[in-house]
Amino acid sequence: MRLGNVNLHIVSDGRAWMDGGGHFGLVPKVLWEKVVRADELNRIPMALNCLLVVSEGKRILVDTGFGDKLSPKEREIYGIAGENRLVGNLCRLGFAPEDIDIVINTHLHSDHCGGNTILRFGKVSDRRREVVPTFPRAEYWIQRLELADARYPNERTRATYLAENFVPLEERGQLRLLYGDTRATSEVRCVVTRGHTRAHQSVIIESGGETAIYLGDLAPRAVNVECLAWVAAFDVEPLETIETKRRIRDWALEKNALLIFEHDSRVQMGYLREEGGRYKVIEIAPEPGRP
Ligand SMILES: [Zn+2]
Repeated sequence: MRLGNVNLHIVSDGRAWMDGGGHFGLVPKVLWEKVVRADELNRIPMALNCLLVVSEGKRILVDTGFGDKLSPKEREIYGIAGENRLVGNLCRLGFAPEDIDIVINTHLHSDHCGGNTILRFGKVSDRRREVVPTFPRAEYWIQRLELADARYPNERTRATYLAENFVPLEERGQLRLLYGDTRATSEVRCVVTRGHTRAHQSVIIESGGETAIYLGDLAPRAVNVECLAWVAAFDVEPLETIETKRRIRDWALEKNALLIFEHDSRVQMGYLREEGGRYKVIEIAPEPGRP
């Protein structure tokens, strides 16, 4: 779709299944099940919607999904089907991995940066396997504080901060550390949206008088914007999440910003409306080819 002079494409890395309680934190199941139904393992479907932005000749990919390095057991746990999902969908849009100039990671949880790198096998004879950047020309943009938290995880964050998703970028000189809000082009900028992690960032696109925001895990689903108290159990600073969402919600209403949701299995994008203190995201038609 077009937003001013910018082209936006939702590029899917497929779909995963995650524990419903994890996604809704303190919200009782009887309430969240009205929004999304759980399977017999209490899992709910979670889209892995990455975003390709073409602005001023730069091809910018925001987040990279789970990627293809998961073990068979992890794939089973997350219910992930198919290989080469993100790169395959990029190719279908006419973009090869070497066409990507910048990869922005909202944060380094494994469902957002797993596709940063791929396994490359050496000759059968030497049995070497190497993890290399998926996008060979790209600069990968990561907040400094997020990288610090990922490099030195604790017992709660260890399972999702996997070194193979970011260390190879440093080794190859393809990592750019960001020190807070940073502009990629005159139309695209990263803004720190603290809460899910200490240095989680979202991406704002502004062009031709129109505005959009890719929220990442600040609000993975539309309902997380509509109800500020609906915060994922994964969030490191849930009270910060609420205040950041309040600020972004007010800003989005004022700017009539298009909201783009990374994990919503039903609403890819929409506009926020308010009536009598109640908030509602009005979905706009998804792109054809949505999984
Ligand atoms: Zn996520």
